Amino acid sequence: MKADVIVVGGGGTGLSAAIEAAAHGAQVLLLEKNPRPGGTTAMSVGSLTATRTAYQERAGVVDEPQHHYEDIALFSKDGRADNDTLRRVLTENVPETVNWLSSLGVQFLGPLEDPPHRKPRMHVVLPTSRSYIYHLEKHARKLGVQIVTNARARHLIVSNGEVTGVEFDQSGTTAVKAYAARGVVLASGDYTANPDMKRKYISDVAANTEPINPNNTGDGQQMAMELGANIKNADSHSAGLRFVAPANPSWISRIPPWRGLMGVVKFAIRYAPPALVRKFIMGFITTVTVPAHELFNSGAMLIAKNGVRIPVDKKAVVAELTKQPEGIGYIVFDRTIADKFSKWPHFVSTAPGVAYAYLQDYEQNRRDLFSKSDTLEGLAGLLGIDAVKMKEAAATHAAPLREAPYYALGPVKNYINYADGGLIISERLEVLDANGRAIPRLFAGGSVGQGGLLLRGHGHHLGWAFTSGRLAGKYAAQLSPRSS
Ligand SMILES: Cc1cc2nc3c(=O)[nH]c(=O)nc-3n(C[C@H](O)[C@H](O)[C@H](O)COP(=O)(O)OP(=O)(O)OC[C@H]3O[C@@H](n4cnc5c(N)ncnc54)[C@H](O)[C@@H]3O)c2cc1C
Repeated sequence: MKADVIVVGGGGTGLSAAIEAAAHGAQVLLLEKNPRPGGTTAMSVGSLTATRTAYQERAGVVDEPQHHYEDIALFSKDGRADNDTLRRVLTENVPETVNWLSSLGVQFLGPLEDPPHRKPRMHVVLPTSRSYIYHLEKHARKLGVQIVTNARARHLIVSNGEVTGVEFDQSGTTAVKAYAARGVVLASGDYTANPDMKRKYISDVAANTEPINPNNTGDGQQMAMELGANIKNADSHSAGLRFVAPANPSWISRIPPWRGLMGVVKFAIRYAPPALVRKFIMGFITTVTVPAHELFNSGAMLIAKNGVRIPVDKKAVVAELTKQPEGIGYIVFDRTIADKFSKWPHFVSTAPGVAYAYLQDYEQNRRDLFSKSDTLEGLAGLLGIDAVKMKEAAATHAAPLREAPYYALGPVKNYINYADGGLIISERLEVLDANGRAIPRLFAGGSVGQGGLLLRGHGHHLGWAFTSGRLAGKYAAQLSPRSS
């Protein structure tokens, strides 16, 4: 197999890289290890933060990349160093990324406020993050990108010190070789599903914590490290309790992301009664949302499916829950807490587009996560928990639950959402070796090419995925072809 540019991975980064490489005249081969492109990008909430977009302009928001660059620092309170150069690459190029995605048919809600950003900059994709993949894949195919699925890249091929191709396994055939005349772009995501890498770089608890995306095996990081590359901010990650995603997504979330249809949806969202809008937006949420820790601070208890009450402290990951069978728990509380979490400022979770979701939003629109009964025994019965254990747990809880009716939200689980450890790269997205020299013809973007960027706050990971992908694809295509 031969191409000008080979892209490893078909998530947001890889598809963007493939499109831009093809748009710059390259013949492109994209290897995706799953049966379909998508990756974590297709499982995300879909927020993308950028300045100077057509959306900001229409909303009359005057904003600039420099302010975005400055505001990102406000999210980092632990003193960890960011990659300043790549933060500039992100903030200066992400405006064009949103306009580029829009030109391909992707539609957004927004811009929404997301403090401490000083201006509304958050754009949320409509109807779900699968829209990114739908439009990017369609466009890549239109430009002639060859997408090979069920193809897992294993090693980079090197000749005379240059990366010349990729060795991959495909549907039972091992060590298939593909050669790239111009360059290889790694876009294979993070390592949240690789217990050995998590144990080595993060912790034992992280190693035992379920990933959101079981395909994030850190292959790109490992392939480049075989050639002397290194990863930065390897322990930085996001993990914690999340509601389990619905087994059967609502009909609303299956609406195809056609441009015309999304225009109608946007119009409806602007003018429909707020209750209808909330129902609609909550129906979009197929991804896993995060219960506010404030529920526990207010006296709610966490109980595992086997009836064991789980202590919840300030740590994001409730390690005790991970040790219980299936790792499943429920957040249980009484009427007093239910009343409190029915209005601002006490929300159950944030929700894209709605901004904040309250208890009644879950009752009306996420029945898979909501249970209510006049007695604790009744609630235990609804959840399949032993009633005696439930009553015992409630009675011995630090803030005993006394006021009927009783409520439960869940199932919840600990998940590791993403790991920030990316290959160290240059501002031209070239992968660097231990001496800081570019490994010839090797590029990386998205999570595998995060290069020490922290990307805290909402909408920066996707911003980096699409932006770095676009740039890496372009730079790879612009190299002169190898002579042999
Ligand atoms: C629940 C959740 C919600 C999120 N919400 C947001 C949000 O709203 N906004 C935001 O900015 N960020 C969000 N993120 C983070 C964001 O989704 C990711 O950082 C981003 O999608 C990473 O893109 P990527 O292209 O690097 O990786 P991916 O999208 O994961 O793509 C990698 C692709 O490479 C493939 N692959 C892996 N190994 C190989 C191999 N060896 N050979 C071939 N193919 C391979 C994978 O199958 C996958 O398709 C969220 C993350 C999670 C888990």
